[in-house]
Amino acid sequence: MFAELSPHAAALRERLIAFMREHVYPNERALLEPPPEAEKWQPRPLAMDLMEKAKAQGLWNLFYHHGPEGQGLSNFEYSQLCEILGRSLAAPEIFNCNAPDVGNMEILATYGSEAQKERWLKPLLSGEIRSCFAMTEPQVASSDATNIETAIRRDGDHYVVNGRKWWATGAPSARCKVAIVMGKSDPSAQKHRQQTMILVPMDAPGVRVVRPLSVYGYEHAPLGHAEIVFEEVRVPAENVLLGEGRGFEIAQGRLGPGRIHHCMRFIGLAERALEIMCERARSRRAFGSTLAEMGGVRQAIGQSRCDIEQARLVTLKAAWTMDRLGNKAARNEIAVAKIVVPETAGRVIDRAIQVHGGAGLSQDFFLAEAFAETRFLRIGDGPDEVHREALARVELSKSLEGAAA
Ligand SMILES: Cc1cc2nc3c(=O)[nH]c(=O)nc-3n(C[C@H](O)[C@H](O)[C@H](O)COP(=O)(O)OP(=O)(O)OC[C@H]3O[C@@H](n4cnc5c(N)ncnc54)[C@H](O)[C@@H]3O)c2cc1C
Repeated sequence: MFAELSPHAAALRERLIAFMREHVYPNERALLEPPPEAEKWQPRPLAMDLMEKAKAQGLWNLFYHHGPEGQGLSNFEYSQLCEILGRSLAAPEIFNCNAPDVGNMEILATYGSEAQKERWLKPLLSGEIRSCFAMTEPQVASSDATNIETAIRRDGDHYVVNGRKWWATGAPSARCKVAIVMGKSDPSAQKHRQQTMILVPMDAPGVRVVRPLSVYGYEHAPLGHAEIVFEEVRVPAENVLLGEGRGFEIAQGRLGPGRIHHCMRFIGLAERALEIMCERARSRRAFGSTLAEMGGVRQAIGQSRCDIEQARLVTLKAAWTMDRLGNKAARNEIAVAKIVVPETAGRVIDRAIQVHGGAGLSQDFFLAEAFAETRFLRIGDGPDEVHREALARVELSKSLEGAAA
């Protein structure tokens, strides 16, 4: 599989592995440790320093293929690098490859005007600022995005935004300077043409970050997740992305690459969990043998290898299909990976926790936080049920065509 990497991608992969070994793993504990309350949402000097180092080594914007700011990798190639940086929860931001900024940069690169790119994409690509994506709302079932209620009302040469969002990843950060907000601009339009996306500066009057949200108690500072209120927020009309009524179209385009990147990272996390499961099993003794000699533990290890191989193959197939046929044509493959990988990686990590005993649940290992991360993705980017439903629709229509033939 790695033989298919271009010489450029293969060289980047080697440098990435070396960077992880030299800079990320030794600093991982410090990078993931919750900061003191007063500094919680401030940039961390250690992370900023590592970002500069990664940038200087060309290990920057590895996902980006829209211009010279990235490395021009295909999705298939990036998958194999993303897996490496996915091995540590602390790593994605260091390489400017973290959610939701990656998805937001994709949106701006694909749908942004030249002025929007200049103002927001440029500083995001350089790592100078962070962004958030505000679609989900607490008061409506947001897995059905047509439910979104936030109002985006035209008023002269401005739009006025009113609504409440939550789970906006990155919003609590002091470096978060812009939100991509999805709301309704025309509730009377056709169901999928009612929505608009608009760029809202976080310092615009009326934008209020109400509270941070935690995932199983992890706040993921300094980026975090937040509930935000938009109250009579006035933004210039030119802040609309692509055009009024085209928000749904952008949302569909954004979530494809975003979903697959999460999968790639989780394969790296699962590989690392399997590695430390084996190390621990070899080094601990109980009831007269090492854990590695016990049948139940050996079964867990063997099954984990099977699980990871399956997860990697569906992810690479999705990436390969995106490269050859485009994101839209790859939507079924992306949905399969989005369902299979978080659950599979979660199972592997759960086994590693079990083999570690109490230590596996503690802050001394990355496993507990990694498990929480995989659990979140069974809901984030659309709950698994919604993707299964879409796949079922395709399968059932195939069977209908088969019956008619
Ligand atoms: C850590 C984290 C980070 C996130 N980051 C962001 C972000 O940056 N920006 C953003 O906008 N949102 C973000 N989200 C929100 C996430 O995308 C939503 O939570 C998700 O889309 C589900 O919406 P909901 O919570 O309103 O669930 P609901 O829509 O209320 O759904 C609840 C449950 O109903 C069931 N269900 C729904 N539809 C079906 C169906 N068709 N068939 C069967 N069962 C179904 C599922 O079990 C589902 O979990 C994040 C969430 C988390 C936890």
